[in-house]
Amino acid sequence: MWSKKMKNADVVVIGGGIQGLSNAYYLSQRGLRVILVEQGDLANGTTSRSDGDNFVCDAAPGFTTSFTTAAVKLMVELVHNIGYDVDWLEKGAVMLAETEAELAVAKEIYQAKIEAGVKVRFMDQKDVHDDEPNTAPDIPGGLEFQEGGSLSPMLLAFALGEHIKAMGGEMLRFTKVTGFGFDQDGAVNKVITDQGDILTPRVVLAAGIWSTGIAKLAGLDIPVTTMKGDLLVVEPGVYITRRKTMEIGYALVRNENSGVERKITPFMQQHGVGFLVEPTGSHNALIGFSKYPADTVDSNCRVVNAIARRAIRFFPCISDANIIRTYSGLRPWTPDHEAIVSETSIPGFYLCTGHCGNGITNGPLSAKCLAQIMFNEPADFDMSKLSINRFQNQQ
Ligand SMILES: Cc1cc2nc3c(=O)[nH]c(=O)nc-3n(C[C@H](O)[C@H](O)[C@H](O)COP(=O)(O)OP(=O)(O)OC[C@H]3O[C@@H](n4cnc5c(N)ncnc54)[C@H](O)[C@@H]3O)c2cc1C
Repeated sequence: MWSKKMKNADVVVIGGGIQGLSNAYYLSQRGLRVILVEQGDLANGTTSRSDGDNFVCDAAPGFTTSFTTAAVKLMVELVHNIGYDVDWLEKGAVMLAETEAELAVAKEIYQAKIEAGVKVRFMDQKDVHDDEPNTAPDIPGGLEFQEGGSLSPMLLAFALGEHIKAMGGEMLRFTKVTGFGFDQDGAVNKVITDQGDILTPRVVLAAGIWSTGIAKLAGLDIPVTTMKGDLLVVEPGVYITRRKTMEIGYALVRNENSGVERKITPFMQQHGVGFLVEPTGSHNALIGFSKYPADTVDSNCRVVNAIARRAIRFFPCISDANIIRTYSGLRPWTPDHEAIVSETSIPGFYLCTGHCGNGITNGPLSAKCLAQIMFNEPADFDMSKLSINRFQNQQ
């Protein structure tokens, strides 16, 4: 426990994942006295169980593509300014079609991205194989996204933590939020933890999959659930491809908007299995992906096996690679697959959660935009799109 004296902060951020750390980072930059509360160590949750892609390829058209394009630019700036090695690899990404029907989808994605100002190239069968000879010979084409890169979310989390400390922010690790206090007008004025209380006029709830339970402690109902994903780690030093490569099915599965039938088994369909490979800065490669409702992070062997089979379909050389471990994470999921970056009906109580499969990419920009909401500044984006009201209006 702390000393009997209560702590004081201008803002308390709940959660030491990418969202909490990004919020604490940008609020500290504004000169606020920030306390971040984390029940475990930094990156205890989904942030350390993801891969670290920062691309716009699979973003839904419209607001999400514009927001993600700006988020990727901000991430590039951040990793160049942060002064820590976060395993950043800035080589763009490739999306492969498996069939002519998927190639038609690739053309549609290409057109929409060009109109949104995204740097993308359409690749025919020859382009794909010239670009990476390891690609299966019958792959008919794909897209090359020239901007964006990948990083280690864990390294980024700890780098942000160092900056927050250097700016005077306090990080209370292994400290669990258990309740809130309110003044006579209903505004939040206290965060209660298992180690003591913190007086504060502002709270940012950024607790990923735990946000729903913590919001309830404040009397708020928010629709964040869990959506599992599994990843395989290839032994170091095995060359598969030089940059992030995924199947067009990545966009189809993530956005559930296609009508195009993928050439996969019913089991794969049921578990949202598809192919991605991502070389990492530590000379491994990550192989994914899956997407299905579940609430444990235990690896599911059948899903892992299905992912491996799917990967070999696109890159036959993967059948010779040793997989040294697997891991799984739970995406903080929302009904419309968009994040919640929002004020709430409780004065001083803000939400930065539900970032689904894009929370690493969109973390820093979400935090910047939430600070604009908090201080009534002109917003860079129409943040009503990410407001909690979009769900409450539906009830
Ligand atoms: C397999 C997989 C691959 C992914 N790949 C990508 C990718 O390539 N690119 C991308 O952009 N996104 C990706 N994502 C999504 C991304 O990982 C998440 O959106 C993001 O990590 C969510 O971050 P967060 O800070 O909201 O949650 P978390 O990282 O889970 O942080 C929440 C924190 O809150 C803490 N907490 C909970 N309860 C309490 C409490 N009572 N008191 C104090 N602290 C508490 C937890 O311990 C946790 O550390 C992937 C996700 C998965 C599962």
